[in-house]
Amino acid sequence: TFIVLEGGEGAGKSTQVRQLAIWLREEGFDVVTTREPGATKLGMRLRALLLDREHTGMSSRAEALLYAADRAEHVSSVIRPALLRGAIVISDRYVDSTLAYQGAGRELDQADIEPINTWATGELVPDLTVLLDLPPDEGINRLGRPADRLESEPLEFHARVRQGFRDLAERAPERYLVLDAQLPPEEVTRAIQRRIRPILPD
Ligand code: C5P
Repeated sequence: TFIVLEGGEGAGKSTQVRQLAIWLREEGFDVVTTREPGATKLGMRLRALLLDREHTGMSSRAEALLYAADRAEHVSSVIRPALLRGAIVISDRYVDSTLAYQGAGRELDQADIEPINTWATGELVPDLTVLLDLPPDEGINRLGRPADRLESEPLEFHARVRQGFRDLAERAPERYLVLDAQLPPEEVTRAIQRRIRPILPD
């Protein structure tokens, strides 16, 4: 079972990943938590390049390809092996982050980046994607400006990203759960648990 958490900065993805892992382990499941970018050795190098965009001065297409490279490595060396041994994998971000950030945010054509990512992942699609939806100004406030985030992008960029995520969720409602990230974190966790329970292995 492959579960992904998506959303903009400061939406609480990493908190929810942690809470879900605690719960599923208590229920006796083998759980692997992971994130993008940067879950592998190669990924850590790519993450450093990607988050230092101002210094590397990369074009939008180069950025999209580096995210895809990070993801290819992530799928082949972390996600697929874990799924094959029967683990539940919970990832903080996946393909939809690229469609939202590099697609909607940087205004690259989704029709171009989608096939690249289909190829990079060998067509691995999550069983469930949870979108933690939050107005961008609220998310950025919550962050208190940690150094390794894209809070340097203008608010309009983050607004496009948010809309990008919402459009993706609307396009694939069967594999999406959209939650208001302004709800108390415990309530968000309970809502995710209710949605995950029926898709868990016995
Ligand atoms: O999820 P996390 O905050 O660690 O992501 C690190 C940074 O990478 C964030 O600023 C996010 O906006 C950015 N990012 C991106 N494109 C992606 C994934 C993440 O610009 N596909």
